[in-house]
Amino acid sequence: MTTTIIGFPRIGEQRELKYTTEKYFRHEMNAEELEAFGKSLRQKHWNLIKDSGVDTIPSNDFSFYDTTLDTAFLLNLVPEVLATIELSDLDKYFALARGYQGEKGDIKARPMKKWFNTNYHYIAPKIELNTDIQLVGTKIFDEYVEAKELGIETRPVILGPYSLLHLSELDEGVNRQAVIEAFVVAYKAVFTRLTTLGAEWIQLDEPALVKDLTSDEIAEFEGIYQSLLADETIKVLLQTYFGDVRDIYETLIALPFAGIGLDFIEGIQNKALVQKGFPKDKILVAGVVNGKNIWRNNYQTTLDLLTELDVKNVVLSTSCSLLHVPFTTENETFPAEIKEHFAFAKEKLTELLELNAILAGNGQDELAANQALFTKERFVKNKALSQKIANLTEKDFTRTPAFAEREVLQKAQFNLPVLPTTTIGSFPQTKEVKQTRAKFTRQEITQEAYDNYIAAQIDDWLAWQTSIDLDILVHGEFERNDMVEYFGQNLSGYLFSQNGWVQSYGTRGVKPPIIWGDVVREQAITVKWSQYAQSQTDKIVKGMLTGPVTILNWSFPREDISLRESTLQIAFAIQEEVLDLEANGIQMIQIDEAALREKLPLRKTDWYEEYLEWAIPAFRLVHNKVQAKTQIHTHMCYSEFTDIISAIDQMDADVISFEASRSNLAILDELQRQNFKTQVGPGVYDIHSPRVPSVEEITQTIETILTKVPLEKVWINPDCGLKTRGVPETRASLANMTEAVKEIRKGL
Ligand code: GLN
Ligand code: ZN
Repeated sequence: MTTTIIGFPRIGEQRELKYTTEKYFRHEMNAEELEAFGKSLRQKHWNLIKDSGVDTIPSNDFSFYDTTLDTAFLLNLVPEVLATIELSDLDKYFALARGYQGEKGDIKARPMKKWFNTNYHYIAPKIELNTDIQLVGTKIFDEYVEAKELGIETRPVILGPYSLLHLSELDEGVNRQAVIEAFVVAYKAVFTRLTTLGAEWIQLDEPALVKDLTSDEIAEFEGIYQSLLADETIKVLLQTYFGDVRDIYETLIALPFAGIGLDFIEGIQNKALVQKGFPKDKILVAGVVNGKNIWRNNYQTTLDLLTELDVKNVVLSTSCSLLHVPFTTENETFPAEIKEHFAFAKEKLTELLELNAILAGNGQDELAANQALFTKERFVKNKALSQKIANLTEKDFTRTPAFAEREVLQKAQFNLPVLPTTTIGSFPQTKEVKQTRAKFTRQEITQEAYDNYIAAQIDDWLAWQTSIDLDILVHGEFERNDMVEYFGQNLSGYLFSQNGWVQSYGTRGVKPPIIWGDVVREQAITVKWSQYAQSQTDKIVKGMLTGPVTILNWSFPREDISLRESTLQIAFAIQEEVLDLEANGIQMIQIDEAALREKLPLRKTDWYEEYLEWAIPAFRLVHNKVQAKTQIHTHMCYSEFTDIISAIDQMDADVISFEASRSNLAILDELQRQNFKTQVGPGVYDIHSPRVPSVEEITQTIETILTKVPLEKVWINPDCGLKTRGVPETRASLANMTEAVKEIRKGL
């Protein structure tokens, strides 16, 4: 047997790519230097994989920002306005990713969307009426040649045409069939060129196949690939991940693919499909090592699976690209008895090799060591907590009185102007804020000095928020490194890596904590600073918490208990925090569920049973005990909610804010259609870009909102927290926001 992976983390062992690209953004480095750096990083990663012994190595999985955006540029799927602006190709690329505002013009960033059920985000390609789809880029070829020159034969990777179409936004009037035909020509051109350069294989990623597919969609897929594979000499690996291919398996095995890649971790049903029969002339790239979680592979389970699959030509692989796990455990300081339970990207390469050796009859020691690991008791289980969860009843998930009654009561209690203004919680985490925290962590400054610093930040921003007449203030979250880690640090059962970064979007990474054991709140988490902020002003300051589903979804979860059980453990902990805040005079409490949608099954048919039926109640458990007059807010971002609007209403929050500006406020129609009861703050400007929206722009957005949502339900806020932004742009944007609201109020 041989081994492969289907993608490797590109950010670098020490997030070098992030730091270097950001230098370029700040004009501290030129394009040649950035390109040269990219080249050296690719070389390093290819060599690392090669030295590990993995047989087949992918290329073109590198990206300066996002591989979907790379594919869009390769095939010329870029908005027409881009041609009118005098920027280099590289800067055009970054302009679409992050927006551009400068002397050369004004380009809005393309919408950024969640990559299937992960916390990675891609830039959605756009196909306009005049888009001339054709092969115009060279990245995939350049990187193939680059590796070849190092003596490394790679399998270039590209997003497949079906998924590309699925992820692209087509302007009205664009002929879908014509797009498909142009795609086929363009992909053919890619194949031809790669063949000329000597490539034997190409990997086409088609993750969209693991969703529910209609017969039209299956026919569309089949049509595309019949044309694409006709008379083709390059070997095509059709790679899927994040689920099973139950709707299209028969079609896949009938098409002339040379290999098919299936995920046996998330795609549980793939096993039964393969057992029905897998063609002898194809290679099965078996995703058996989890590309999304950090736990060691259970070798015996994997070996059993492979035996049951009973396929002749198998290549051992990861369930998805290793993009979704951190680089290596080598730089972590966990004690050995903890570390041995983890495998990050680099260690997963070793797992593939060890599995392969065991299969060849050479790895008995490795197998024994692995089995020993899985029979160890990691920690003492909290029986009282599992009993508490077993005893939950419907009453524990139901807040009284009902929403309508609370709404009347709260309107009287808070007496806010129409279109109340607020923000989502965080203010810029400047270099100074981060450095001060780092100094404190390294014990270079005292607790007192650190507290004084945080208090001064809060004072400063409270005063500034008051000066622009925001109605509901926030303390700014200066004491937090991250909205999950900060909570995890005060919960038992959590572990934190030093360097376990995973790319979230572009140059941004997250460092998900690891849920190691049972979770219990050890002490008050946010009370001190919320209480402090509230004591400094007569205005209301919102308390700010992260919800249980998001804490779970942005952590590496346990694999020994269900996600539901883990989430309910966290929900009990956050419930205690909510009640503590309330008891200490906090009247509005925002419980962020930014990542609610993240683990929503990709198949609609599984949504309720497998996820929403426990995720939504878990949120309700957190706030069901508060008083009627305590206003519960929640916040969500990055994703599409239009299809889960009713579930969101069932969270039974009093107010919800969400990301809307990059998705063109499409969600508003759905709110209207479903008669959404919760008050809403659809973000009025995009905070993921440094661009400052004008008063007119925001006014327009608010006016659009008001055509869909009743005035008395609307809140005004940016679309997410502001921690990643600079101070000047934050202040300018928010001042424009309150200015716009004042003008609109005058006109009412
Ligand atoms: N309250 C958090 C913040 O403002 C919410 C962040 C998020 O939704 N990702 O930063
Ligand atoms: Zn957000």
